Amino acid sequence: MKLGEWTLDWLHDTAFGLDGGAMFGVVPRMVWQRKYPVDRDHFIPLALRPLLIRGHGRTLLVDSGYGSKLDARQQGQFRLIRPCDPVRTLAAAGLAPDAITDVIVTHMHPDHAGGLVTRTEDGTLVPTFPRARIHLQAREIEALHTPHPRTRHAYPDENWRPLEEAGLLEAADGHKVLAPGLELHHTGGHSLGHQALTLSGGGQTVLHLGDLMATHAHLNPLWVMAFDDFPMDTILAKQDWVAKAREGEWWIAFYHDMFHLAGRLGTDGQWAEFLRAERTEDVDQALAKVAMDLPAGLDW
Ligand SMILES: [Zn+2]
Repeated sequence: MKLGEWTLDWLHDTAFGLDGGAMFGVVPRMVWQRKYPVDRDHFIPLALRPLLIRGHGRTLLVDSGYGSKLDARQQGQFRLIRPCDPVRTLAAAGLAPDAITDVIVTHMHPDHAGGLVTRTEDGTLVPTFPRARIHLQAREIEALHTPHPRTRHAYPDENWRPLEEAGLLEAADGHKVLAPGLELHHTGGHSLGHQALTLSGGGQTVLHLGDLMATHAHLNPLWVMAFDDFPMDTILAKQDWVAKAREGEWWIAFYHDMFHLAGRLGTDGQWAEFLRAERTEDVDQALAKVAMDLPAGLDW
């Protein structure tokens, strides 16, 4: 997508799966399965799609997938179609890791931030993108340093201490303009320091809501993941941002949606238009496991 001087690409790391109940929180399966497919084990197929943003002399990545540090047990647990590898994913776009000037991290959960640190063959943990400043919210850094029994497992040291020690972390305090038309916005909700971003240029805007809008099926502000640490904050933030996106006719980008890269809302507040994902082998493999007919509108 072109937005004035900016170019935006959706990269595709791999497909994976999570329990559908956890992804839709208190919403009953009988209701959410009409919007998103599910397999016999109640898992739903999900994507990992870091954004690549180029322009104004910068090459930025938004989120990084699980990374290559997962062991075989974890790869099975998350049902990865193939191991994650942010370097391979970037190479598919013709770029080397040192071409990345900045990484924006919506939050530090492993499926978004695990790829920021790589374990070398001798076991050393090193930043995957050695030249990149890593932009995250100050409150997310605070969450990393004040582990709670609920969040501790989501913030393993290996995903962030090497970055902090290398002095690569750049804290944003709420709202921050990173470049002309590129802004970070604290949302909280999913995690203490979860952030969204907006990218504008050429009269268009794309909103990336991270895990506040993981897939197109999460449009209703009340459809909140069970993973969210502060669900009441998610609801209010999503309500607010979705209203802005509808009024401004913005695209909303998805990180985890298997079917769509982005969607645009109509005046009725429902999806009016989608940017469809490419049908890759990963999609076929993931969908082969889906137990029932695809919901209406997902006519692959
Ligand atoms: Zn996620």
